[in-house]
Amino acid sequence: MSKKILVTGGAGFLGSHLCDKLLAAGNDVLCVDNFFTGRKENILHLLANPRFELMRHDVTFPLYVEVDQIYNLACPASPVHYQFDPVQTTKTSVHGAINMLGLAKRVRARILQASTSEVYGDPEIHPQTEDYWGRVNPIGIRSCYDEGKRCAETLFFDYWRQHKVEIKVVRIFNTYGPRMHPNDGRVVSNFIVQALKGENITIYGQGTQTRSFCYADDLVDAMIGMMGSDKDLTGPVNIGNPGEFTMLELANMVIRLTGSKSQIIFMPLPQDDPKQRRPDISLAKSKLGWEPKIQLEDGLKETIRYFKNKI
Ligand code: NAD
Ligand code: UDP
Ligand code: UDP
Repeated sequence: MSKKILVTGGAGFLGSHLCDKLLAAGNDVLCVDNFFTGRKENILHLLANPRFELMRHDVTFPLYVEVDQIYNLACPASPVHYQFDPVQTTKTSVHGAINMLGLAKRVRARILQASTSEVYGDPEIHPQTEDYWGRVNPIGIRSCYDEGKRCAETLFFDYWRQHKVEIKVVRIFNTYGPRMHPNDGRVVSNFIVQALKGENITIYGQGTQTRSFCYADDLVDAMIGMMGSDKDLTGPVNIGNPGEFTMLELANMVIRLTGSKSQIIFMPLPQDDPKQRRPDISLAKSKLGWEPKIQLEDGLKETIRYFKNKI
C-alpha cells in the first residue's frame, strides 16, 4: 500500500538514496532539507516526479504536515561539517527529534531515527552489540554529534514509553557510496578524491584505527526493513557491514583500485578519534532477515566510478 513518507535530510547522501527506493516502491515522498550538507543535485532526477515533493526547512523549527511515516535523517554526519557549527549540530539532533516526535505523535506516524555507531564512542567492547552503553566524552569536539544523537535516542524511547509513539531506532555504522559530497571530509570520499586527483592520501594517526564500511544500497534496504518490521521492534538495531579494515588497508585498496600514483602521508589524529569499530549485526540478521550483500571492494569500485564522473 502506498504511503505518504517524510524523509528529513532527504537531499543528503543517504537520504537521497532512501527517497529513490521509497518512490520506486510507489510511495509519496516529502523531502525536507535545509541544504546544509545536502545538495539539489542529489535529488534533481526526482523533481519531475509527481509523487516527490521538496521542502526547504530546518528541522529545529516545528513542521506541520500530514504523513504516515517519518525517516529522521537530518543531521550533518561528517566530523568536518558537524564541527563547523557544533551548537547547531546539537540543536538539529535534539530540537529536530522533539519536533519530529511531536509531529509523529500528532499524526500517529511511525518514526525511524538514523542514530549512529558514535553512541558507542571509543568502545572497549568489540564488536559492538546494542546492549553496550558506550564510552563517550561529553565535552569533546565530537560530543555535539555523539551526545546529540544519544539524547535523540533518549527522546525516542521516552516518546514511546510516555506517548506510545511507534519508534524505530537504527544505529548506522560508517556508510559510503555515490552522492557523497567530494568535500564531505569522511575517509572514503577523501581517499578516493585524493587518489583520482593524484594528491597525497591523508591518513590521520598511524592508520591502525579500524572502521567497518557499509555500501549505501545495503544500508537503505535495512532502514526500510526496519520501518516495516513488527510494531514491538523499537531497536536500537545496529546496521552496518561487519568487515573491519584499518585506514592503512583502506588507503592501499583505494590506490590499487584507482591505479593512482598518490603517496600516503600521515597527519595528526583528531581528538577522541575512536580506535576500533565493528558492528555485531546478529539482531538485524535475526529480526530483519537482513545482512549486507556488497563487499567493500565492489562498493568502492562503484563509488570510484561516481567520483570519476564528478571530478
Ligand atoms: P549528509 O550530511 O549527506 O546528510 C544529512 C542531510 O541532513 C543533509 O542533506 C543536510 O543538509 C540535512 N540537514 C542537516 N541539518 C539539517 C536541519 N537542521 N534541518 C534540515 N535538514 C538538515 O549525511 P548522511 O551520511 O547522508 O547521513 C544521514 C543521516 O544518517 C544523519 O543523521 C547521520 O547522522 C546518519 N548516519 C550516517 C552515517 C554514515 O556513515 N553515512 C553513519 C551513522 C549515522
Ligand atoms: N510539533 C511539530 N509538528 C507537529 C506537532 C508538534 O513540529 O505536527 C512540534 C511542536 O512545536 C512541539 C514539539 O513538536 O514543540 C513537541 O510536540 P509535543 O506535542 O510532544 O509537545 P508540546 O507541544 O507539548 O511541547
Ligand atoms: N580519516 C583519515 N583520513 C581522512 C579522513 C579520515 O585517516 O582523510 C580517518 C579518521 O581519523 C577516522 C577514520 O578515518 O579514524 C574514519 O573517519 P570518518 O570521518 O570517515 O568517520 P568517523 O570517524 O566518524 O567514523
